[in-house]
Amino acid sequence: MKFLKKQPSKPTFKASIIGTGSVGATTAYAFLLSGAVTALNLVDLNKEKAHGLKLDLEHALPFTPHTTIDYNDNFKSVKGSDIIIVTAGARQKEGQTRLDLVNTNKRIFDDIIPKMAKAAPKAIFIIVSNPVDVLTLHALKVSKLPKNQVFGSGTILDSARLQSHISQRINVHPSSIDAYVLGEHGDSSFPVYSSANVLGKPLSQFEEFNAEIAKECFKETKNAAYRIIHDQGFTCYSIATALREIAEAIYEDKKVVFPLSTMLDNYYGHSNICLSVPCILGRNGIEKTLKVPLNKGEQLSLRKSVQTLKKFA
Ligand code: NAD
Repeated sequence: MKFLKKQPSKPTFKASIIGTGSVGATTAYAFLLSGAVTALNLVDLNKEKAHGLKLDLEHALPFTPHTTIDYNDNFKSVKGSDIIIVTAGARQKEGQTRLDLVNTNKRIFDDIIPKMAKAAPKAIFIIVSNPVDVLTLHALKVSKLPKNQVFGSGTILDSARLQSHISQRINVHPSSIDAYVLGEHGDSSFPVYSSANVLGKPLSQFEEFNAEIAKECFKETKNAAYRIIHDQGFTCYSIATALREIAEAIYEDKKVVFPLSTMLDNYYGHSNICLSVPCILGRNGIEKTLKVPLNKGEQLSLRKSVQTLKKFA
């Protein structure tokens, strides 16, 4: 069925989503609802799956902002993409850590990333497949693209989880809670509580919050994926929504600051490894990292995350 190709009233913004499983499909849906992109290209080795998703999403078009939707199993189709969201690959099964996926997903990246970098050398690559930090570094190596153009969703998701758990304790909307998780998107991640605040009021000054609750909130954050995978089999809605925020930040050149997995260059003395630190995100991808104050304990946690990830670099 052909859909009316209306002239979009805003500049075109093409997003290719690689892998149309749980994360790819919900991301496409989140993009469609928000109008964050004007063209969606759904790519999966399983072409039927991508086709099914295209049809299902097209049937939502009467109720959404105008978006053209295409599907493919050919990586050349990413040509002209402004952003490429990479969700292809194996996902954690119950009992597996993210790092257990490294060899399978590195092999997939060896195949697909160079093809896409050739077809869309100006695109911004957002790596989502796990282990996201290891794969971001790997994607940078095999794509040979500059580091502003290749980054991972990193701990944007962990930070959203932390904010949501704190919000339930102190009864303040999660978007008003300035508390972030940095480091590996994985077991060595850490919360930056030393500067956590609500519009300048330190979290530690909230009656409902104390060191024990801080520990609980982070424990729930760290275990969230394990818990959701146990209960539901996969996680997708929160990451898809975070990816919509990332896409909008790039499209609108927002210069918004998110914790994202990026190649470090002398960040607290650490270099040549990808993990999450606060990044300024705009039309060119990651424009700058922000060195935020970390206390001694947090600096030690950062070092531990670096050491964990260096074993897989
Ligand atoms: P899924 O199994 O539902 O989907 C994966 C898709 O990738 C499948 O449709 C499969 O056909 C496709 N695929 C496999 N190899 C491919 C290739 N070479 N080219 C194109 N497509 C290919 O998995 P999911 O639940 O969507 O998770 C996808 C990835 O995202 C996993 O690695 C998962 O761990 C990760 N993930 C990351 C985050 C995060 O915060 N970074 C959150 C959730 C999931």
